[in-house]
Amino acid sequence: MAPTFRDGDFVPTREVPFSAELDEMIVEIRAGNAPNIGRFCGYCSAPLGQEVECVVCGERTERTPAVDKIDRDLAQIYHAKRKREGLYVHLAAWTGILLATGLSILMILFLPGWTKVFAVIFLVLGGYFAGVFFGNVLIQGFAYRAGLNMFARRWTEWRATSRTARSPG
Ligand SMILES: [Zn+2]
Repeated sequence: MAPTFRDGDFVPTREVPFSAELDEMIVEIRAGNAPNIGRFCGYCSAPLGQEVECVVCGERTERTPAVDKIDRDLAQIYHAKRKREGLYVHLAAWTGILLATGLSILMILFLPGWTKVFAVIFLVLGGYFAGVFFGNVLIQGFAYRAGLNMFARRWTEWRATSRTARSPG
């Protein structure tokens, strides 16, 4: 099931119930800043607060009772999504830096005499801006979608296995 986007922004659905709030919470729990305890949707694990209806997947607690902690495997999927996004951003930033380096080497080869100094300036500034541009601007949308696609695939697998494991019959 593919993630849903509206105007470029991801919209959580019952098929792909990624919760930004849960994402933040998992980061805090992994960092040891928060305990893995609360009130979560029994279907998608999104934080419920005092609500009876999940804002992420629309499940109601009378149908699927709330749970008091985040499933370990699901937390692992959220973590893997972040790691995947970070990897793309790093790769893109390094591509930018390498391109700028290649260009400044060409400048050193072809610029005459003292103007080679521009190659050095370009290497420093160009490398920095190319890294920032490639890493932050160019790849962001791609990494965002790739991360959500990965989440969608793994969430479906997790849901399929955890349902058979938990189901009383
Ligand atoms: Zn939910």
